[in-house]
Amino acid sequence: MSHPPPAPGDRAILESVWDNRRRRWWWLPFPPVLESAFQAYYAQRYRAHMALGLGVGILAILVTVFEEFMLPEADRAIPLFIRLGLLLPVSVLLFLFVQAGWWPRRQQSMLMMASLGGAMGFMLMGFYAPASHSGLYVGTVVLTEIFGLILLRLQFSYALASAVVIGAGSAVVLLWSPFPGSALDNFVDLALIVFAGALCLIGNFMMERSARSDYLQLRLLEFRQQDLEATNDHLQLLLRSDALTGIANRRYFDLRLLEEFRRAERGVYPLALLMVDIDCFKLFNDTYGHQAGDEALSRVAGILATFARRPGDVAARYGGEEFALILPGSKEQDARAIADELVEAVFAHGLTHGASHVCDRVTVSVGVASILPGQDGLDETRLIAQADKALYDAKMQGRNRAASWSSVTS
Ligand code: GH3
Ligand code: MG
Ligand code: MG
Repeated sequence: MSHPPPAPGDRAILESVWDNRRRRWWWLPFPPVLESAFQAYYAQRYRAHMALGLGVGILAILVTVFEEFMLPEADRAIPLFIRLGLLLPVSVLLFLFVQAGWWPRRQQSMLMMASLGGAMGFMLMGFYAPASHSGLYVGTVVLTEIFGLILLRLQFSYALASAVVIGAGSAVVLLWSPFPGSALDNFVDLALIVFAGALCLIGNFMMERSARSDYLQLRLLEFRQQDLEATNDHLQLLLRSDALTGIANRRYFDLRLLEEFRRAERGVYPLALLMVDIDCFKLFNDTYGHQAGDEALSRVAGILATFARRPGDVAARYGGEEFALILPGSKEQDARAIADELVEAVFAHGLTHGASHVCDRVTVSVGVASILPGQDGLDETRLIAQADKALYDAKMQGRNRAASWSSVTS
């Protein structure tokens, strides 16, 4: 089952239609924008159902051919021709059209023609049959009417048109004096046809109404589904981002580091980590206050985020005034070059820090480490420890610089 995906503006229309339906329960059509989509849905949704109905109808036309063989031989030709020469081929043609989904916009009209053509066909057969058998055909008219309106799932307006034409056509034929049988019998038959039509119409109304409700609910459900997905995405984002700086939080960092570690192990490539710490940040807070401190943290985080350039890179707040950058595929040398760039970028940003022991602005120190997961026999906690040691080295060397784990050990 397919129907057009929800368009943004549709929701308000759907909701107002849904509300209006409670008050105007007797009104079936939707506003034009929705109506054509509904018609496409209806044609698709009940195609198999309608094809089955037509198939059963074709079978019934064939099986009830015995009606003609009950007629005296001299009276057989015309009814037999109407059945096999008109009703049968037209039904088969309609069946093919509906089954193949051709002309979906004309589906209801075609089915209406089937129901009313069938009923009128049998009425004519009754007309040409002798009086002794015409009642049989009139009975078939009633069955065909019920079958056509209900089993073919005609929408109310088409069912109404069909029932009116069948009623009027039957009135003309039955009340016309050449019709076989007594006038009273024919009048009773006509009343039966009209009554059956009226009952069917109630069914058609209820079926169409519930099909329309289904359609509206289905479409509204799609919007609710979208809402849920959006809420879920938002929650996922909240779950993994740091509230103050907006970059990845510690939780997400831990997850991703492990993930990238395993990926690098499988792919046999290095995994680098930068640990970044703002210099003399306690003094910054003491001098400018915590709010200014928060702002400085956000600025540094923003700069760090621009260094996560490749798909697997992750810039995260590790905790307090410490940050981390995961760089899958980077050897220590390459990671070191990025660390030097980062130190330079924070320095160049020029955020005033009058109390710093380093210089007159906010600076960072960076520790760099890179391992070949699996081959070195180390796990990801060792990578953090190495980067941390390198960071300590950078601090010892005077801050506002980067240091590498390999130079710490050598
Ligand atoms: P060093 O150069 O050795 O790194 O010195 P430091 O002062 O930066 O290091 P220390 O660990 O002594 O101080 C870290 C400071 O970072 C202390 C704390 O007030 C501040 N800090 C940690 N988290 C936050 C935060 O979320 N907002 C603010 N404004 N300050 C924070
Ligand atoms: Mg620190
Ligand atoms: Mg610090």
